[in-house]
Amino acid sequence: MNEKILIIEDEEDLVKGLKLNLADEGYEVDWAADGIEGLRKALEERPNLIILDIMLPKMNGLDICRELRQKNISAPIIMLTAKGEEIDKVVGLEIGADDYMTKPFSIRELLARIKAHLRRDKREEKSEGKKVPKIYRFGDVEIDFAHFKVKRKDKELDLTSLEIEILKYFIAHQEEVVTREVLLDKIWGYEKYPTTRTIDNHILKLRKKIEEDPSHPKYIFSVYGEGYRFMG
Ligand code: CA
Repeated sequence: MNEKILIIEDEEDLVKGLKLNLADEGYEVDWAADGIEGLRKALEERPNLIILDIMLPKMNGLDICRELRQKNISAPIIMLTAKGEEIDKVVGLEIGADDYMTKPFSIRELLARIKAHLRRDKREEKSEGKKVPKIYRFGDVEIDFAHFKVKRKDKELDLTSLEIEILKYFIAHQEEVVTREVLLDKIWGYEKYPTTRTIDNHILKLRKKIEEDPSHPKYIFSVYGEGYRFMG
């Protein structure tokens, strides 16, 4: 199946050129000329990559990007900026884009970056089974997997990298029962062999950090005799 690229841009001439070039490379291309339609298409049609202009009618690209990340859409986003626009915040936590190009840009350069982002995205998907977004939110918790940071109600939490790995595994296996044996294997690996008790202790600590009421968890549930189930 062809990879789908969504262009959200109101400059028709630019879009025409982009469409031709992308179609030539074998991509399926979709286009939205204003912010609202762009956001809708990005959410409903789940493109593999999004090219997003900043200055758009109805809703600007920065707000679209923020909203998509808020909704856990993890497709790579390349922003198009005009000279002089503030771009320092575009790539990174606050806005959440993966890359940007300043107009006027070379189409060949854009094509190369698209290819690189799609390749990286596929590789991550493969290595993690199901894909976990770079930034994931549930309840009032926000996890930034790229920077190993976790916040709750805007306060930074002190999670160990092991705890973050456990959360990542849980998120990738939403709603499934994750047994202690699987956690041992996937998180600790076979060389280090903690007891299942150690795992339970880690989960207890994790609950204390992310759950409102750790004795009545809302996210990490115990499944009697089996292990755990994450719903977030
Ligand atoms: Ca524009």
